[in-house]
Amino acid sequence: MVKLEQYGETNEYRPLYLAFVSNVENINNLENIRLNNLRLANIAADRMAPTESTPAIVWLSYNVHGNETSSSEAALLTLFALVDPSNTQTKAWLKNTVVMIDPCVNPDGRDRYVNWFNSVVGTNYNPNLDAREHREPWPSGRSNHYNFDLNRDWAWQTQIESQQRIIQYNKWMPQVHVDFHEQGINQPYYFAPAAQPYHEAITQWQRDFQVTIGKNHARYFDKNGWLYFTREIFDLFYPSYGDTYPVYNGAIGMTYEQGGGGSGGLGANTDEGDTLTLYDRAIHHYTTSLSTIEISAMNSSALVKEFRKFFNSAVSGEIGEYKTYVVKNNIVDAQRIRALLKLLDRNDIRYGTGSGNARGFNYNNGRDETFAVANGDIIVSTAQPKATMVKVLFEPRSKLVDSLTYDITAWALPYVYGLTAYASKQSIGITGAWKSAAVPNAPLNADTYGCALRWQGVSSATAVAELLTKGVKLRFSEEPFEVNGQSYPRGSVIVLKKGNEKFGNSLWTMVEKVCTENIIGVSAVSTGMVDKGFDFGSSRVHYMKARKIAVLTGEGIGSLSAGEVWHFFEKELRYPVTLINASDFGRVKWNDIDVLIMPDGNYRFLNEKSSADQFYQWIQNGGNVIAMENAVVQLSKQPWSEVQLRKEDGKDSSDKKDPYISLRSFENRQKEGIPGNTPGSILRVDTDNTHPLMYGYPSYYYTLKMDNNIYDFIKKNGWNAGVIKKDNQLSGFIGYKLKSKLQDGLVFGVQDIGRGSVTFLSDDVLFRSFWENGKLMFCNAVFMVGQ
Ligand SMILES: [Zn+2]
Repeated sequence: MVKLEQYGETNEYRPLYLAFVSNVENINNLENIRLNNLRLANIAADRMAPTESTPAIVWLSYNVHGNETSSSEAALLTLFALVDPSNTQTKAWLKNTVVMIDPCVNPDGRDRYVNWFNSVVGTNYNPNLDAREHREPWPSGRSNHYNFDLNRDWAWQTQIESQQRIIQYNKWMPQVHVDFHEQGINQPYYFAPAAQPYHEAITQWQRDFQVTIGKNHARYFDKNGWLYFTREIFDLFYPSYGDTYPVYNGAIGMTYEQGGGGSGGLGANTDEGDTLTLYDRAIHHYTTSLSTIEISAMNSSALVKEFRKFFNSAVSGEIGEYKTYVVKNNIVDAQRIRALLKLLDRNDIRYGTGSGNARGFNYNNGRDETFAVANGDIIVSTAQPKATMVKVLFEPRSKLVDSLTYDITAWALPYVYGLTAYASKQSIGITGAWKSAAVPNAPLNADTYGCALRWQGVSSATAVAELLTKGVKLRFSEEPFEVNGQSYPRGSVIVLKKGNEKFGNSLWTMVEKVCTENIIGVSAVSTGMVDKGFDFGSSRVHYMKARKIAVLTGEGIGSLSAGEVWHFFEKELRYPVTLINASDFGRVKWNDIDVLIMPDGNYRFLNEKSSADQFYQWIQNGGNVIAMENAVVQLSKQPWSEVQLRKEDGKDSSDKKDPYISLRSFENRQKEGIPGNTPGSILRVDTDNTHPLMYGYPSYYYTLKMDNNIYDFIKKNGWNAGVIKKDNQLSGFIGYKLKSKLQDGLVFGVQDIGRGSVTFLSDDVLFRSFWENGKLMFCNAVFMVGQ
């Protein structure tokens, strides 16, 4: 009755498993059930007609947050109940249901928590919440190895756990998916139906069936006298969760939340004076697991029928007002386009190319325009099985029925990738498969004086990182130049024979190999005297030191932000980095470090005069700082900072006119902060792309604004590299009070201090590692700024 499959491995080499459970007949017929299911979704390549008399597929995912441990325990109880020969009830359910159990989505995080807990708990557990066993240390077991929250990563798949799981997801496409979680210890239990806002793409059937499931759970909870709530807090909007991603892929996707995550241990006192034990928590999750399977079995034919309907309306082009999304092909954008297509491939979203003329929404200026579609442009049609995902990921502005949401409100892919794109209400025909253009190369040989690499994206940076790691001496040009009939933009990286003599003739073979592997062009240059711009010996062409990089981590530092930086260096740039605990500030040999990265966080050493002075001295002597988010707030308060946080509260004049504005309704208290907030929206930033921080960018950048912070323009000793001017909001929700504040201010800037520099990145340019177009700015700060 059970088929166990290892579908992958974690960063710490733990196995990832899926158990398929059903009756013997279904298990013997598993591959046919799978193929038929893909035919129902119009995904199967064989185009054979599917049958609707087939079991429903119910996928249960446990322990995505490693320190929410009761769910993996519940997975074992559930598995046992399904196979227990004496349990006739579950046997009846398994006639028309295939249950897929992922007992632990995040084993690295779970083991981090469990090993720590076992090392601090006594012979008996202590339910006192002040006991150390309820106070988990940094970075906690919630996240994976690289401190990523895997329940924000379903659509983006930046982490190997998600990448391997979504391959399985696309192979199986379940009708029901549950993601098991734990919430604060004093919250009872949450199950479907979810809270508003719902994304408008969610069908009536998906909304209704959540209620059906919720009512079934309520029956069991009522019988046992257990408390629960529904329709609050957990909404269905941001597409990268374990509930929304399945919903946008045609399933009933849900989150269940038990109280006690992170701090619950084996048992803990609640405010009401109860002791909540791991056993209680596991039994609640076990109960909803079985109740989900039961109600799905009872409705399996309706689930299959509605699933079929979802995908039939998808391929008939009935989803969304826009019928086609067009991404313009452009050699300058080749690296960004490659990254976008990788994302589409991972989500099984189809695309092609074609030509013609059309009308559509221009993402860059927000206007409806006529535009030409040229062969080589990427065409994504909404008439395809994954139409809902296409709509959710591409739509310029998602409708938000309620502004109180759990997450960011904007993620339209052309902004995330910084690409020129249109959303058209016309159906534009796909005439062929999309193929990338050949990378232009001029071969290098023994007579080559040097060669130049254009700085156009993260692949350029990974190539440079590799060359620097191999000990190749590099330079970069701060001005555009032309030589041998080729033109090179600012930031182009130059390799000369001079200085690299030790490599002899193998130099050019090595450079060509690195460039080919990173899919970037490289051109031979026969002379150091350029036709336009500055010669290679000019002081405008800078030597690029192979910098030694350190990142501050540990208590006080945002673990997600530190994780983004760590992951980026290890898995994308592949450039060495030293992680230093911020509490070790006093014992670090600062002279060995060229660049210090301060992720989002609270830095105590800045509050002590002696260490703050030592830090400033190090910058003056040539140290370079990259400060992110809240680190920028803290640095802006240092006496030397030319970057000043804007203080005005953003009140608009309507407040002053209304004498009753302070008469607030108690019932609306949760919504009071909304007018002055942004839960993550996209704004257009004007760049000074002559400054190294913005090399490789056009005159604009789309930023994800996650907080209310904006800074005044730098008046002296610094550079306003990225600023927000008036009317810059492109997508997402921004409170009306905040709109007037978020303009004419600085978001990205650089201050020169002595021989060093401080780069202020007040928005997260590496957000969840999916904000692709910010990564180049980070690379600029690492390799170029202050050189
Ligand atoms: Zn959770």
